[in-house]
Amino acid sequence: LGSSLRGTLDKLRGKSRLSEEDIEEIVKEIQRSLLSADVDVSLVMELSDNIKERALEEEPPAGTPARDFVLRIVYEELVDLIGDSTELPLEEQTILLAGLQGSGKTTSAAKMAWWFSTKGLRPAVIQTDTFRPGAYDQAEEMAERAEVEFYGDPDSEDPVEIAREGLEETSEVDVHIVDTAGRHALEDDLIDEIEQIEGVVEPDTSLLVLDAAIGQGAKEQAQQFDESIGIDGVVITKLDGTAKGGGALTAVDQTDSSIAFLGTGEEVQDIERFEPDGFISRLLGMGDLSQLAERVERAMEQTEMEEDDWDPEDMLQGQFTLNDMQKQMEAMNNMGPLDQVMDMIPGLGGGIKDQLPDDAMDVTQERMRTFSVIMDSMTDAEKEYPKAIGASQIQRIARGSGTSEEEVRELLQQYKMMERTIKQFQGMGSEKEMQRMMQ
Ligand code: GDP
Ligand code: MG
Repeated sequence: LGSSLRGTLDKLRGKSRLSEEDIEEIVKEIQRSLLSADVDVSLVMELSDNIKERALEEEPPAGTPARDFVLRIVYEELVDLIGDSTELPLEEQTILLAGLQGSGKTTSAAKMAWWFSTKGLRPAVIQTDTFRPGAYDQAEEMAERAEVEFYGDPDSEDPVEIAREGLEETSEVDVHIVDTAGRHALEDDLIDEIEQIEGVVEPDTSLLVLDAAIGQGAKEQAQQFDESIGIDGVVITKLDGTAKGGGALTAVDQTDSSIAFLGTGEEVQDIERFEPDGFISRLLGMGDLSQLAERVERAMEQTEMEEDDWDPEDMLQGQFTLNDMQKQMEAMNNMGPLDQVMDMIPGLGGGIKDQLPDDAMDVTQERMRTFSVIMDSMTDAEKEYPKAIGASQIQRIARGSGTSEEEVRELLQQYKMMERTIKQFQGMGSEKEMQRMMQ
């Protein structure tokens, strides 16, 4: 279905004005894509009305192809509905997870804890599920895999008491993530229980965990949980499957909240902070990188991103410093691995990437974590001019960051390799040549 949307959009390539029929056709395709992604019917109608109205009324800015103009309207309307990711400050906080059994709460609790630990915070998972057999063991094992602290009590049958004790026992950590039991359906005792837990825990943020495959059922769940504990954000799990998670839109709309995280696999590292671009292309079934590139680029122009936001194109101009590398690593969480980011830069096609050494772009999450810690112990001057870092500085940095000199050297090596790669790109030629290659 996504491909028919793309087909329709492709037909408009080169046109600078759209007829009413063109717009009707696009809107129909968008409706089809959204409905097949499980977006609520009334939401789809509302969205498509807005898109149609704007596409007919607004004048495309001079020089903007009609196709881009419409895509931008679609994008803006969806961003408007979905919004930015749920705000989660990198500081002390308590997060409560709610949702039905099997939605992915326990997995998400460990994933989120892992995610916070990559941000330098100390998290703990508190498991209060006394209902599901094996819940304790599963949560403990996942917390172990995430290398985060864990509290639970396999002998207790009182989830509220476990929550209370869990908070006390883990009082020294920064982020408390409280996992709860679910049921197959929204039974009263589930709602009672989570209300009581909420009362004891007093979470800063309550997240509703939803399976991406949830269709129209999202509405009732969202409403119930919002009424009982108040929902501040949504976690969508199992996005690695075929489901596109459109039901989450209903939940977001229903609870007037936003999306916090996306779960994309069974491992603790398979978590992404929500970011509208990727999610929207998935919803519309236009997830390929060249399309994504266009949209990301367009979005950048459109929203005039804040100055210090990292732009992959900056990397291709001027000096590549350790600061760039650090920003790049941070951006990876949102934009995907560097080789994919490369794909998003106009003019850097797959052909060029193939010429790179295999490991040039390979920075695993774990290494990234270590690198981040190391860089925090460097001075700005060192980060701006890494070539000047000598043996004595390496010693100091290793000691300051609690890492080994070998790890610091590894970081510098990685930096060198990336710098060389970037240089290679810079040497590729003028902007004109790049433009030519884009066509
Ligand atoms: P809970 O009952 O809400 O705690 O759900 P669980 O965390 O136990 O997850 C239920 C099942 O879904 C488990 O088999 C998980 O491995 C699986 N699961 C959770 N999140 C994801 C995900 O993002 N992708 C995939 N493929 N499986 C997931
Ligand atoms: Mg569970």
